Amino acid sequence: MDTRFLGIDVGGSSIKMAVVQAAGTAVQMLPTLAMPQPSTPSAVLDLIALHGSSQAIAAAGLAFPTVVKQGRARTTAHVDPAWQGVDGAAELRVRLNCPVTFLNDADAAGIAEMRVGAGRDLKGVIIMLTFGTGIGTALFVDGRLLPNTELGHLLMRGGDSEDWASARARTRDQLDFPAWAARVNEYLDLLQRLFWPDVFIVGGGVSDHFDQFGPLLKSPADIVPAHFRSQAGVIGAALAAADAIELT
Ligand code: BGC
Repeated sequence: MDTRFLGIDVGGSSIKMAVVQAAGTAVQMLPTLAMPQPSTPSAVLDLIALHGSSQAIAAAGLAFPTVVKQGRARTTAHVDPAWQGVDGAAELRVRLNCPVTFLNDADAAGIAEMRVGAGRDLKGVIIMLTFGTGIGTALFVDGRLLPNTELGHLLMRGGDSEDWASARARTRDQLDFPAWAARVNEYLDLLQRLFWPDVFIVGGGVSDHFDQFGPLLKSPADIVPAHFRSQAGVIGAALAAADAIELT
């Protein structure tokens, strides 16, 4: 059997998992889990282990909504503050009994899209955006990732841009797609003025409905939907795990 990897994508409200081949093909999506409340490290990691430990995998990738520096979570915008400083790979390794890679969730989604999705073979400045509980960003220059960009926290209208233009803001403020797209366009304009990207890749949970809002988005940069839509994070987490194994 070919080598398989477990991709795990922890979001503000749910946890997605998939068994993925090294080439990026998902062979099995596991049922999406509700994020435990409170979302403490042990609650989240024990739940992942409960549902993921029976899989025959060589390694796992844990994509998480945090800045990851030296293997440790450094921000906790949408998760329990107890995650601050946690070495996610070490904590999950003891539960799954295999090597684990810990990385930012939007970076994971971007890795999947750049390698085997909508950004494949694209050169120049590419920004992956994930619209969900927050706004995740991954910035690539000629295919190379600048990790942990956190552009969902750029200041807009006196607060974090993700408070204004995330998918959660759409639900919270009961916006239809045209009204939400107007906010996203304001955000894209901010990114345009700062980074002059060539392409925006739009992902996150809401990208499953890209046909309803994508045509309303406007930017001098090209705007394309994530090939893997809301599954980009799990695929990218698994690809990052495969990369890490190859390096060892
Ligand atoms: C977090 C990022 C994350 C994004 C999407 C933001 O609030 O700060 O680390 O990538 O949400 O989940």
